[in-house]
Amino acid sequence: MRQCFSMSDHTGKPCILCCAITGSLPRKSDNPAVPISVAEQIESSHAAVEAGASIIHAHVRNDDESPSSDPDKFAALKEGLERHCPGVIVQFSTGGRSGTGRERGAMLPLRPDMASLSVGSNNFPTRVYGNAPDLVAWLAAEMQKYEITPEVEAFDLSHILQALVMHQNGALHGKLYVQFVMGVKNAMPVDKEVFDFYVQIMRNRAPQAHWCAAGIGAAQIVVNEWAIAAGGHTRTGLEDNIRLNKTTLAPSNATLVARAAELCAKYDRPVATPRQARALLGLRSHD
Ligand SMILES: [Zn+2]
Repeated sequence: MRQCFSMSDHTGKPCILCCAITGSLPRKSDNPAVPISVAEQIESSHAAVEAGASIIHAHVRNDDESPSSDPDKFAALKEGLERHCPGVIVQFSTGGRSGTGRERGAMLPLRPDMASLSVGSNNFPTRVYGNAPDLVAWLAAEMQKYEITPEVEAFDLSHILQALVMHQNGALHGKLYVQFVMGVKNAMPVDKEVFDFYVQIMRNRAPQAHWCAAGIGAAQIVVNEWAIAAGGHTRTGLEDNIRLNKTTLAPSNATLVARAAELCAKYDRPVATPRQARALLGLRSHD
């Protein structure tokens, strides 16, 4: 009988849509819609926010499209987002593709609302994604210093458990927010049984915390639907997936946000406004 209620359990609960606009990997030659320059990023973000995104997750790139950790570029992006997308939650990546060691946190003094934080290591498609304990501790401490709420990127179950420990120990600023990432080659596959277990773990051990989920490639829409149906929040955007389907490239970040918003409607979950998302995640309001 329980199944009868599974569709409507989370009815009316706002769903936060995050748009990962650029990432470190996709290039214009993969999809011309990938925003590379700061101006393109701001324009693409603006359209994504109009379509329902309340968090913009961003990396920055050099002019030759290679990943960058240049704080000046992050500063220009933050300023542009705050001007053109007022209230939107600015989340910077401290992921390992755009720099090494403490370079990864060089933009944290800019005080974005949020930053991604990996708390453990795992394999990526062609290399080890290394997050040594001392670097994790340093990044978390910098986020505390600058009052930045981390979004913990969980590429594996151990990362969720580590986030819970760090939160309990007071090592993470603000409210706990964990994102399950599924479908990175050589890391956690897109697996519904595992996803359900992740959700159970969060519900049982951190019932006040919010969680979200992201799927890579063709699995993006699959994981979007799982997360929306299960009462979580979800991430979309060209960083994770450049296609609408096998044969069609996604024409924009906004298109990907719009299809996640359609799923929210299917499950009777209103798309959270930036203001609602800030309240849910305990972020300072922007004046
Ligand atoms: Zn990213």
